[in-house]
Amino acid sequence: MELEKEVRMHIENGKILHDSVLRFLIAGIIKKYKIDIENFIGSESWLNDSWNSWKDTAAIDSVTPSSHKLKLLTIPAGCTGRIQPCDVGIFGSFKKVVKTLTNYAQLTNSNYKFQTRDETLKLLSLVWRQLCSPKLEKWARYAWVAAGYDVPRPASFETPAQLLFPRGVAGDCTMHGCSSTSFVKCLYCEKLFCFEHFVIDHHNC
Ligand SMILES: [Zn+2]
Ligand SMILES: [Zn+2]
Repeated sequence: MELEKEVRMHIENGKILHDSVLRFLIAGIIKKYKIDIENFIGSESWLNDSWNSWKDTAAIDSVTPSSHKLKLLTIPAGCTGRIQPCDVGIFGSFKKVVKTLTNYAQLTNSNYKFQTRDETLKLLSLVWRQLCSPKLEKWARYAWVAAGYDVPRPASFETPAQLLFPRGVAGDCTMHGCSSTSFVKCLYCEKLFCFEHFVIDHHNC
């Protein structure tokens, strides 16, 4: 995807921070589901909160693709819970999945260096793809309800972590000849994978 390519390029140039990457990727999810919110600022503008890094306009200008014109608007401090649905309902779940994967890596695959730039990018890309699953559409929509928007409330749904790491996920890895224990269930092929075959091999069914 174009967005991913652009983010990759900026990371390789050492220009973009971890949290910024997350925000770029999540923006892709919102676009994909065409979540239609009245008065929501689209791609022409980038509405930032008052986090200090967003005040560094030179840094933001340096990572803006030349094909895009960016109009920067800043949300006053203290408004997150009211007007930032992704902060309310998306990023936390995203980070929870990433944290579960990195915690698991520390326990079981000490040679895996998830803090290196390339592995971090691959891990975020892997999680982002899983979170784009149609199985999570209700979860994504719920963020707007949670932030208090007057939008239809989705029926009950499961979170990314509940679907990726369900009860009983520990079993035999799907890959032929692999004797490792599975720890994650792919939301697309619904098969169980061990750490090596899901994260290190960058599962992309
Ligand atoms: Zn799969
Ligand atoms: Zn395996």
